[in-house]
Amino acid sequence: MNRGRLWVVSAPSGAGKTSLVHELMRREPRLRFSISYTTRPPRQGEVDGQDYLFVDEARFVAMIEAGEFLEHAQVFGNRYGTARGQVERELADGHDVLLEIDWQGAAQVREMMPEGRSIFILPPSREELERRLRGRGTDSEAVIERRLREAHAELLQWSGFDYAVINDDFDQALGELQRIIHGDGEALSATRPQVRQLAEQLLADTPE
Ligand code: 5GP
Repeated sequence: MNRGRLWVVSAPSGAGKTSLVHELMRREPRLRFSISYTTRPPRQGEVDGQDYLFVDEARFVAMIEAGEFLEHAQVFGNRYGTARGQVERELADGHDVLLEIDWQGAAQVREMMPEGRSIFILPPSREELERRLRGRGTDSEAVIERRLREAHAELLQWSGFDYAVINDDFDQALGELQRIIHGDGEALSATRPQVRQLAEQLLADTPE
């Protein structure tokens, strides 16, 4: 049986990544979503074992020490990580696996599994990025301000990805993600001029 393909999706928070990935998973039943471990407390409505595996700091550190993570990183003051075992099993069984992780994790996966492919999702503008961060309504003002600054750091990483999708129109962005995972995404390379221009504009418009 052919080994499955590993897909990594990253984006600044506020790019609309979670809704896109959620719908992508609904439309592509053959794609497996890797559920991450995190020390972040659950948000309202989040389900343990479905959105994340919520663990405490001691358990997370024990997993690092036991070498159980394919990658792990600190994001917004909390720890997040992908368990190696589950991903390996799915790939060996021939399933494509999708990781929705931050750029630090994406860089680690690139080292560990260079055969994987990565996709960066960009918001269409700074205004839209901020609107989406506020629209979620679950985070405090301080958290939103921090996420805007973190978005700048995340946006700096755009050129390290294989593909990029601009999430202006939801259905179009979803269609592009599907094209990429079906192996038909050559035109959606992360280094195409449209992406370069947008990334530079977003970087100029977000606080460092
Ligand atoms: P949130 O707390 O909003 O769900 O996620 C915050 C950030 O952590 C997002 O950028 C998300 O992609 C990232 N993240 C979620 N799971 C993982 C993971 O397993 N590893 C890494 N490195 N980042 C993750």
